[in-house]
Amino acid sequence: MSLKDDLMARAENKCELCTSTDKLEIFEVGPDSDGSADQSVLLCDICRNPGKSDVHHWRCLGDSMWTPVPAVQVLAWRMLNQLTDEAWARDLLDMLYLDEETEIWAKAGMVKAEEPAIETAIVHKDSNGATLSAGDTVVLIKDLNVKGAGFTAKRGTAVRNISLVEDNEAHIEGRVEGQQIVILTEFVKKK
Ligand SMILES: [Zn+2]
Repeated sequence: MSLKDDLMARAENKCELCTSTDKLEIFEVGPDSDGSADQSVLLCDICRNPGKSDVHHWRCLGDSMWTPVPAVQVLAWRMLNQLTDEAWARDLLDMLYLDEETEIWAKAGMVKAEEPAIETAIVHKDSNGATLSAGDTVVLIKDLNVKGAGFTAKRGTAVRNISLVEDNEAHIEGRVEGQQIVILTEFVKKK
């Protein structure tokens, strides 16, 4: 049997999303479909061209999303996520449960811009939890052996005009005895 025969048998000769029998073709469910029946679905002309279809065509997902076929679940999930302006689509999405593997697959095919990038702001804090800013003056709270520089920065030394290490909240930089050194924020106190 060919792949299409396999899919026809599984789908009972109907579109796996809307049950139409019109112009059924194989649709590979990406992003990395291996072309197997497990990663393909049988779709009608309308379901293969979602851009041209009416929003209400997709009410069919209310039935087809209960399929046991993961590839069909994935398509239903992705389509519902593009219809979240519609209350009925949001309701269906709330009910659509994907197992972990299927959910990862479904999300892998979504346009990345859907997810707002979560910016985790890096905040530098001294040993007391006070926020440090570039240009601050800090005092060392313990003797620091400066590796490679051959001296010890003594406890109580003031370091003026510090700069913050942008990608590491535990590090600041400042001049001690004429040398620019990296200092751990946990060993300083803001003045
Ligand atoms: Zn269809």
